Amino acid sequence: MKTVLIIGGGFAGLEAAIFLRKSNYDVTLVSERDYFFIYPTSIWIPTREQEFSDVCIDLKKLQKVHGFKLVVDALQKIDAKENSYTLNSGAVLKDYDHVVLAMGASKMKHKGIKNTLSICGAPEQSLQIRDSIDALIEKGSGKICFGFGGNPKDTSAVRGGPAFELLFNTHHLLKKKGIRDNFELTFFAPMPEPGKRMGTKALKMMAVFFEKLDIKQHFGKKIKAFENDSIIFEDDSKLASDFTMFIAAGNGHDVVKESGLPTNEAGFIKINDHCNVVFDDPQMPTNIYAIGDVAALQGADWRAKQGHVAEVMARNVAFNIDQKDKGLSLFKGYQEHLNILCVMDSGNGASFIYRDDKRALMVPLPFIGHWLKKGWGKYCKLSKLNKIPRIPGI
Ligand SMILES: Cc1cc2nc3c(=O)[nH]c(=O)nc-3n(C[C@H](O)[C@H](O)[C@H](O)COP(=O)(O)OP(=O)(O)OC[C@H]3O[C@@H](n4cnc5c(N)ncnc54)[C@H](O)[C@@H]3O)c2cc1C
Repeated sequence: MKTVLIIGGGFAGLEAAIFLRKSNYDVTLVSERDYFFIYPTSIWIPTREQEFSDVCIDLKKLQKVHGFKLVVDALQKIDAKENSYTLNSGAVLKDYDHVVLAMGASKMKHKGIKNTLSICGAPEQSLQIRDSIDALIEKGSGKICFGFGGNPKDTSAVRGGPAFELLFNTHHLLKKKGIRDNFELTFFAPMPEPGKRMGTKALKMMAVFFEKLDIKQHFGKKIKAFENDSIIFEDDSKLASDFTMFIAAGNGHDVVKESGLPTNEAGFIKINDHCNVVFDDPQMPTNIYAIGDVAALQGADWRAKQGHVAEVMARNVAFNIDQKDKGLSLFKGYQEHLNILCVMDSGNGASFIYRDDKRALMVPLPFIGHWLKKGWGKYCKLSKLNKIPRIPGI
């Protein structure tokens, strides 16, 4: 039986493990945490609509269901030339027939970032955000700022959707409690038109939402630093904030930096359409793949690192590895599947957002959208545990 080492137990790594097991590979999955975290539905942890455990799946349960080997340990060092992988415990993993890198992205480090929390950071931060919002609710009033930053070196690493979602959900929570008027909610971003990649129609609709919900906007000024009571901008102007939720843009995973793997300017691993890592030197290994947020996506300006793209890449890699081992070359590419697809929740409804080369849609789904997204969260959990059948491609 051929062996595959997968590093990372997120959307990309888990999907690769599931599909490689279907082709009967001997799969070892290394993950720094012992659970799979359903990031898209974690937006409800801070507003107490979901418990932390609701958005986690125990990797040991997944291991039993799908039959892969699980190593809960953190990757500390990669030596690409030797194709060897050193873990925190000191264990060195090498000599696998194929290696799939799926460790996600690291985050850009802004000055004073410790004065903020991110819904896209370590999963535990969702609980800290919840506690910060609870404390302000207890106090009875406050100023809360929600924002996201950009990475000029790789625009696909910007993640704004969850910031909008958490803002709208917080608005909804405060309204339900009858204390919304005591709070000032502000959305801030360094770009002049945050969310533009969703299309111009979506941008106009967001402006309408902000107006209607009395959310202040602070756009187009670079962020200089975060302080414990404010955000400082490039012109030294200050935005007062009792609590700041800020999603820093992604950049290459820290472990990749000294690895000898080829990267783009932002540190994401360079791959071809089949997700094979592309080295200039022909002496380097040909059996390393990179999928999901850790990889440098090629394509249109609006492209974005998303979970469904990570899963397409994972299924393609499982297929491509099998093809290669069978001496076939009907490889699958990820680029034709690039699109932006999300149901952006607002607490009492949602908007369906879709963008590809031909279309840019934003369709309001009052009420039903909220429950659709909740339903997807349940589907994600149950289908990954094989308790219900998978809908192909979802
Ligand atoms: C709040 C939020 C909402 C989102 N909503 C949507 C949505 O609606 N639709 C959508 O398509 N996408 C959405 N996304 C994006 C989507 O979640 C990501 O694109 C997706 O998680 C990427 O999967 P990944 O496996 O590449 O990376 P990750 O999910 O980040 O997984 C990386 C894995 O690697 C592990 N790891 C990291 N470093 C190491 C190490 N050194 N050693 C061992 N293991 C390591 C981590 O523990 C983790 O298990 C959302 C993201 C967030 C944060």
